[in-house]
Amino acid sequence: MSFNIIQTTVLKDQCIGCGTCDAVCPVDVLKMDFNSIGMYEPIESEGCLDKCTLCMDACPFVEENKDEKELAKNIYENEDNILFHKDLGYFVNTYEVHKKDTTERLKSASGGAGHSLLKNLLEQQAVDTILTIESNNDPDKLFKFSHFKEIKELEKIRGSVYYPTEMSEVLDYVIKNDGKYAITTLPCFAKAIRLAQEKNSKLRKRIKFVIGLVCGQMKTKEFTHALAKNAIGTDRLKTVNFRVKQENKSAMNFGFEFTSIDQKKVNRLSNADMPSKLWGSRAFTPNACNSCTDVFAHCADIVLMDAWLPNYMKDYKGHSLVVARTNETSKILKNASDIDVKEIAYEKVFLSQKPVVDNKNAIYYGSKNIFTQLTNKQKLKIQKLSNINYEKNKPEIDLLFNKIRQIQKIYFLVRLPKRVVLKIFRILKGSR
Ligand SMILES: Cc1cc2nc3c(=O)[nH]c(=O)nc-3n(C[C@H](O)[C@H](O)[C@H](O)COP(=O)(O)OP(=O)(O)OC[C@H]3O[C@@H](n4cnc5c(N)ncnc54)[C@H](O)[C@@H]3O)c2cc1C
Ligand code: SF4
Ligand code: SF4
Ligand code: SF4
Repeated sequence: MSFNIIQTTVLKDQCIGCGTCDAVCPVDVLKMDFNSIGMYEPIESEGCLDKCTLCMDACPFVEENKDEKELAKNIYENEDNILFHKDLGYFVNTYEVHKKDTTERLKSASGGAGHSLLKNLLEQQAVDTILTIESNNDPDKLFKFSHFKEIKELEKIRGSVYYPTEMSEVLDYVIKNDGKYAITTLPCFAKAIRLAQEKNSKLRKRIKFVIGLVCGQMKTKEFTHALAKNAIGTDRLKTVNFRVKQENKSAMNFGFEFTSIDQKKVNRLSNADMPSKLWGSRAFTPNACNSCTDVFAHCADIVLMDAWLPNYMKDYKGHSLVVARTNETSKILKNASDIDVKEIAYEKVFLSQKPVVDNKNAIYYGSKNIFTQLTNKQKLKIQKLSNINYEKNKPEIDLLFNKIRQIQKIYFLVRLPKRVVLKIFRILKGSR
């Protein structure tokens, strides 16, 4: 038997299902499909070449490969006016962005920086094809990567997709068709593209822009099914909108909207109810995410995120924060006429994601804080039980979730005296 990605990554439960190994395999013996927990992974057929290592060279979870920081150093270190922050990575500037038109802004996940950037890349002919995610009209595979050449087609690709997708077909398309491409990616997908570009000259020359989304975790497709069953009584879906903005609520309090295949059942589930419980508790999170500390997509040319800062969160319409790692992406953003773009201190951008950074680090490296240790222990059990069989293990998952709540209450009480002293100190300082 040949040694390949199946042994190095898939059998170790480290595959995130990006599809890059499938795209770079010269004899096409890998094919992406859903596994038992509802994540994509490569399935191998006969014919793997003895001395080939291409799939392993491109995998973001092969330990011997360069990590995202090393890859980023090679790409951005020599950019003019480049700055560096240990968590944000390399950058030339950081921005707060939102669409000028409110109707347009409401369609996007955050402030609409993503849509604006893709539209302007096409308009300014910086690329001729966008690779991003669209609804798939298949209840078993709700979303897929596709290629888009027309600005008007970009209308249907707004929002954040908390559902597995894979890039094998679009990367194959790039390899077979000359052109200038931009692709939207999660941090681990960006890393896979950069690794593949080191070996594959067509991917290197043709993918001009990698656009990253900040990422705390992915969810298996069972996450969507479990929520849909709860919300509308069926998991036979036409599509889901994971980011429905709710008027006059906090920007964080967005809803999920499920549309069943008969199009009759449409319902909204507030993020303040069940999704956040399942989101924050690590239910349905794939195992590979436990090995990932890249929040800010170090290998992407420009990175988009929510403005999770108190002043911005008050506005339900949404704001995007942006880390531009290249002068070219920074310029495209600043020249876009459909958005308001303001420079913002990079420290604030980091602060907006600090809880995400802390959480990823605590899962990967462990934490010195006993309460975080106890909470994460329960979360990892929830993750495992939900991925084995959510329906069967639901009572145990609920018990674990209550345990997390109790630990958090005790932690709150333990910290209360310190918080009160700090508050009094701040008030006194302010009144002087
Ligand atoms: C799994 C996941 C986890 C995230 N975690 C965080 C977080 O912890 N903190 C945070 O601040 N932000 C997070 N984000 C990013 C955030 O949700 C928004 O996607 C981002 O702020 C862009 O919003 P926008 O309004 O600028 O873009 P929009 O105008 O809505 O455009 C978004 C673009 O991204 C594409 N896209 C959506 N989902 C995916 C995907 N899964 N893979 C590739 N492309 C995609 C869309 O097709 C669209 O082209 C996460 C996103 C995802 C998908
Ligand atoms: S080792 Fe080479 S031939 Fe074998 S699966 Fe990987 S890429 Fe394909
Ligand atoms: S390259 Fe991507 S799909 Fe292939 S094994 Fe690695 S993580 Fe999984
Ligand atoms: S947490 Fe890391 S591994 Fe998981 S989807 Fe996000 S970037 Fe990929």
